[in-house]
Amino acid sequence: MNKSYQNKNDFSFALAQLNQQFPALTSIACIWIQTILNTMNDSVILLNKNHQILMANQSILSLLGYEENELINQSIINILDNESYDLSTIGNSVKQTIEATYLKKNGEKVEVLLSSHLIYDENEKIMAIICIAKNISQEKRIEQLIKDNEYQLNYDLRHDKLTGLPNRRLFSEELEKSLQKAHENNNFSFTVLILDLDQFKLINNSYGHLMGDELLIQIGKRLKKYLHSQDILARLGGDEFGIILNHLGNLDHTLEIIDFIKQDFARPFKLNSYEVYSSASIGITVSDSNYQKVGDILRDADAALHQAKIKDKASYTIFRQEMYVEAVNRLQLDNDLRRAIDRKEFELRYQPIVELNTKKITGFEALVRWRHPEKGLISPGKFIPMAEETGLIIPLSNWILNQGCQQMYEWQKLSENSQGLIISINLSAKEFSQKNLVEKIINTVQRLGINNHCLKLEITESCIINNTEEVRSILTELKALGIKLSMDDFGTGYSSLSYLHRFPFDTLKIDRSFIKDMSQSTDKLRLTQTIINLANDFGMEVIAEGIETREQFEQLQQLGCSYGQGYYFAQPLTAQAAEKVIMEGNNQLIV
Ligand code: C2E
Ligand code: MG
Ligand code: MG
Repeated sequence: MNKSYQNKNDFSFALAQLNQQFPALTSIACIWIQTILNTMNDSVILLNKNHQILMANQSILSLLGYEENELINQSIINILDNESYDLSTIGNSVKQTIEATYLKKNGEKVEVLLSSHLIYDENEKIMAIICIAKNISQEKRIEQLIKDNEYQLNYDLRHDKLTGLPNRRLFSEELEKSLQKAHENNNFSFTVLILDLDQFKLINNSYGHLMGDELLIQIGKRLKKYLHSQDILARLGGDEFGIILNHLGNLDHTLEIIDFIKQDFARPFKLNSYEVYSSASIGITVSDSNYQKVGDILRDADAALHQAKIKDKASYTIFRQEMYVEAVNRLQLDNDLRRAIDRKEFELRYQPIVELNTKKITGFEALVRWRHPEKGLISPGKFIPMAEETGLIIPLSNWILNQGCQQMYEWQKLSENSQGLIISINLSAKEFSQKNLVEKIINTVQRLGINNHCLKLEITESCIINNTEEVRSILTELKALGIKLSMDDFGTGYSSLSYLHRFPFDTLKIDRSFIKDMSQSTDKLRLTQTIINLANDFGMEVIAEGIETREQFEQLQQLGCSYGQGYYFAQPLTAQAAEKVIMEGNNQLIV
């Protein structure tokens, strides 16, 4: 059978019948086909075997903006965008459908789905081609839109909006690729660095969030300078950045890069008109064949970072296996801490605060200890930060305040000597987030029956730098109620004395680091002198922390410092030992 007859409906039979029975109707059939062709939405052209247009329906004329006579006899090439179309694809099979682009007379492009149907003569040679084109521009536009959208969505999912850097998700995906590569290729190794900015929160709160954001952007740019194109730099969140050094596994080279970063960070960052210094602590881990999961690499880099943070500002630590054990221990400790309040495992120690000229005890600072059932006595430096992270600090602080005030009440009941004594309680920055902090403190003091004047609250600089206004209003309220306020660890943070003056502090405690170095460093001595003079000028009492030697004690007396606290006078004492000192020593320490 002739190939053209393979078409399902070529009307030949019908036309032959019509012609026989009603000769006039043959022309009706032509009109019928014409009408159908011209009312179709699809564009139809008939080509000869040389691809010249023999016939065109109304739809294609309207679509491309041609008159019939302009289109007839033209090659189809003239209405096809040659970038999208290979003519040889027409005529490969009896019927085929491809995506192509038609060109309008005005040069615009129209995307079409082009089906070509071959018509053969009786010798099975191609006689003509019918091309039916469906306009799919709209669908294509939507498809593109979806693609763009998907791309954007994908991009957003994997990038940090602020810095434009990869985010934690993409970082993990890239790390997975590096890990895979290291497994496949013994010669390939990589290094992971996690950087955490030191005291970024302070910068954020001192200069505002916009400046904090700008700093993060600039840091991203600086870090990028030291990386190779295969390396990955990501912002993992907050003030944490991650780096995968893929082009080397050599630790020396990694340390070289860290050196560059450190030197670069020694230059200030320009934020508007301010010059701000920033530094980063860095945790490092080098790939090895034991690593099976991305999570393990990140865990180890984090453990190394944790150690770096403990050390000093701007230090780095390379992961060692022991750190894994430490991290597990920390986790265990965190679990234990959650149960410690209910199990009554906390104790308070009381360190005397002494008037330097008379060596009389003016009060005690309550210092918390954790008596761990297996690990023994744990110092607050080890668990307070953990309690702050988990929110346990709030119930723990309630217990400390309660216990400290209760103890003072009992001492006051016991002896006349203790009437004027003051109990100092440390407040954590996290406590300022409580709406009812003032109420809670006052209720405790009143319930336990001690005078408001007998309670002093110690607050570190970081408390006043975070949410300055809120903290100031809380402190002003407390001060108005007669509670005394002390600035703790002065000199370790960012605040200046003039800034401090805006807060209603009665007392300033000079940090131990000044006292420790006073004898060796004239700078520290001069600074201590300046702090004492200015505090006195502002009407604040000064307490020197961490006095350990007679020399320090005498120097501070000469500098005009009124009060002191330290091992030279007494270690933090148990309640019984403190009570003994109160009862026996006439509140005076013999040293
Ligand atoms: P801090 O408030 O500055 O307390 C003074 C710290 O210095 C205490 O350490 C004390 O034992 C230590 N110290 C006192 N005299 C000397 C000395 O002569 N030489 C040396 N080397 N150290 C001395 P501790 O008890 O380990 O407390 C450390 C920090 O933990 C405290 O610093 C305070 O910030 C925090 N902390 C302690 N108890 C509490 C508490 O009950 N609540 C809160 N929120 N924080 C607390
Ligand atoms: Mg303190
Ligand atoms: Mg202190």
